[in-house]
Amino acid sequence: MVTDLVFHEAFTKHEMSMGHPESPERLRSAMMYIKRAGHLKDPNLNILTPMPVDLEEVYRIHGKAYIDGIRESSSRGGGFYTPDTEVNAHTYEAAVLAAGGGIDAVDRIMAGKSKNAFVLCRPPGHHAEYERAFGFCFINNIAVAASHLVKECGLNRVMIVDYDAHHGNGTQSAFYSSNRVLYVSLHQDGRTLFPGSGFPDEMGKGAGLGYTVNLPMYPGAGNISYDLAFTNVIEPLAEVFRPEFVLVSVGFDCHYQDSLTSLGLTTSGIAKMNACLKGIAETHASGRLAYFLEGGYNLDAMGMGSLNVIEELMGVPVTEFSDTYTENDACTRYTKTLIDKTLKTAPLLSEVIK
Ligand SMILES: [Zn+2]
Repeated sequence: MVTDLVFHEAFTKHEMSMGHPESPERLRSAMMYIKRAGHLKDPNLNILTPMPVDLEEVYRIHGKAYIDGIRESSSRGGGFYTPDTEVNAHTYEAAVLAAGGGIDAVDRIMAGKSKNAFVLCRPPGHHAEYERAFGFCFINNIAVAASHLVKECGLNRVMIVDYDAHHGNGTQSAFYSSNRVLYVSLHQDGRTLFPGSGFPDEMGKGAGLGYTVNLPMYPGAGNISYDLAFTNVIEPLAEVFRPEFVLVSVGFDCHYQDSLTSLGLTTSGIAKMNACLKGIAETHASGRLAYFLEGGYNLDAMGMGSLNVIEELMGVPVTEFSDTYTENDACTRYTKTLIDKTLKTAPLLSEVIK
């Protein structure tokens, strides 16, 4: 079965101010690395051209007036939502195609037409709240897809793992009261990075209590810390939750060369997380796995990381790169303490430990 790579030229036409890090070049670099490796000619990789999303699917996650506002300011040629989050004439089209691509991707996986997918889209989505565009995001693509899986496909357990360097506040709030979507985020500590949320005591509420798990990492945390988190927290959580579908918010801004963040992962560390996520999907979810692009502002890290995601999804050897970074011991110690605390306090995990 094929791996779907969701891409549309419109994703490169949404553009913010000159020199903005969330630029079309990010996707061009990703496509160039994938092309240069020869995968675009591989019959096991299917380029999926998305259709615009049915807006009724979006209204589960965002207000209608808010979506109308994005369409109107795009049709007027542009406008600012925050000083760093703005629309141009193409933003609305790109946003509805990105959200539509996510739904197309998960529908094809559910129907057995593809085995997994990478939605290589812009604008990204995980910061977008119910009626608020910010952090370069307008429509929360992964939240729209997760909601579709629950409401339209009848799934009871969807796991979202978000390893973008920033906390996915919008995704968290979309499912904060739900026990059908488990949201797990690993990100740079909100005391040191936008958007300033995603602390361990944010665990969900009501029926959703325990179904939000945040692991705020110390600046400089890298391969060792993330490996500890996957082995000790993410995999056990998957054992308890038994997801029927795994969705990943992928952000290559967790790479040590990213200019907006201070984490310490290398391409091999990111590739190890991808292998683990695929293993979780295979063990629990019949392999159902879809990646959604969020951030990543170093163009080479974008390219190398995107290539590695596609290789892992296709099941071909993952290209090794020579980037290296050494995590310091203080970071590792901090992560171990954070994990111990999470194991004792996260409701889903503390039940297991008892
Ligand atoms: Zn990010």
